[in-house]
Amino acid sequence: MSNQENVVAMVGTPCQIIAAENMSYFQDYLGESPVDIKVGLFCMENFSYHYLNQLLEERNIQLKDVSECRVEKGHMWFYLTDGQIQKIPLKEVKTCMRKNCEVCMDYTSELSDLSVGSVGSPDGWSTVIARTVKGLELLKKAEEDNYIETKPMTDSGIALIKKLACQKKEENKKKIKKRESVARPVIYRRFITDKQFREEVADCQFEDLKADVIDVGTCVLCGSCEYICPDDIIKIEDRKPRIKGQCPPDCNLCYVACPRTYLPVEVASPDLDQKPLGDYMKIVSAKASLVKGQDGGVVTALLSYALSDGIVDEALVVDKSSAEPWRPKVKLTSNIDDVLRASGTKYAACPVFKGLKSKNIKEEL
Ligand SMILES: Cc1cc2nc3c(=O)[nH]c(=O)nc-3n(C[C@H](O)[C@H](O)[C@H](O)COP(=O)(O)OP(=O)(O)OC[C@H]3O[C@@H](n4cnc5c(N)ncnc54)[C@H](O)[C@@H]3O)c2cc1C
Ligand code: SF4
Ligand code: SF4
Ligand code: SF4
Repeated sequence: MSNQENVVAMVGTPCQIIAAENMSYFQDYLGESPVDIKVGLFCMENFSYHYLNQLLEERNIQLKDVSECRVEKGHMWFYLTDGQIQKIPLKEVKTCMRKNCEVCMDYTSELSDLSVGSVGSPDGWSTVIARTVKGLELLKKAEEDNYIETKPMTDSGIALIKKLACQKKEENKKKIKKRESVARPVIYRRFITDKQFREEVADCQFEDLKADVIDVGTCVLCGSCEYICPDDIIKIEDRKPRIKGQCPPDCNLCYVACPRTYLPVEVASPDLDQKPLGDYMKIVSAKASLVKGQDGGVVTALLSYALSDGIVDEALVVDKSSAEPWRPKVKLTSNIDDVLRASGTKYAACPVFKGLKSKNIKEEL
């Protein structure tokens, strides 16, 4: 399916990283993996752009006047271009949380090559977890080439990440149980093997994806379904994937690619529920030497280094829309300036895999 010839690094939330890992695992079904290096972010929750904007307008804050946005110390902080700082208690902001985040069990992007977050490290530094040889190599080389500096994490820093990761897993496990007692199963948490998976999904098409994921509020809006559809009939519109045509018989690609349909244990093992930080090789605090980012600027520095050293040809990043302030907008780019411009956290869901799709469409035209 994929005609992604270039080596691509992506940055994404844990759910988007699961989607990438799932597509990589099912290459025999879905075609060559679209992503080669996965830089995952820590993520407790994400918000609806529409509702967050509404909440801010009620408090006379215009997103166009916001220069920086942070979640810390129980509040969401908005740094305005005129120098003012506004804060809203996280409890209130959580009314804008996306429903799919209530059933999410991954805080630290457990399936990434490198995970990056703010928690556990001092201000101006990021926490970096290297999980694979590929990730560790990138971290080491970026430090050798002076793109970043690293230092050991403190025990209290590691303990804090573990505490938050456990908290997310425990609270959301309860929410999954509650949801399942009144509605349909949260099927990505039904642990089945690869063999069972292939039997289970054989006849599943978009209508099943709609019934099992979209209509039950577990869609993370990653865009994998739109990216993978060979007939190009899925469009994410009005915050939901929608179908614009008829599925040919025998196609089930969207159902296989989705990170919220069944996930075989070979992709996401139930053991991870017992490991708050997932499996990893090294954990450090790090900061970029020259780049300014949300925290240590490490994601931007690592992607810039990977592009400049030819480790990857392109990076899939999330910038801001020029039409709507702070609306996340995906960009697949080989230009380091685009990566630098995309630094900083946009607290809203972004169908990142659409970025790959638009490249394919452009090439076909
Ligand atoms: C929705 C969300 C929730 C988060 N929650 C937590 C948390 O609870 N605890 C914690 O420690 N850290 C959290 N983070 C991560 C944190 O905000 C920083 O992204 C991380 O520490 C990296 O900082 P940096 O300075 O190295 O990144 P930068 O160098 O500033 O790079 C940030 C990268 O993030 C990407 N990005 C921005 N917005 C999005 C988005 N919406 N979806 C996908 N990619 C995006 C950009 O492409 C950019 O490359 C969250 C991030 C997001 C997007
Ligand atoms: S489902 Fe929500 S909480 Fe989970 S990783 Fe995605 S955005 Fe973050
Ligand atoms: S054609 Fe295939 S991938 Fe596209 S919507 Fe139908 S089942 Fe899904
Ligand atoms: S339905 Fe589509 S957009 Fe939603 S989680 Fe599944 S693949 Fe991602």
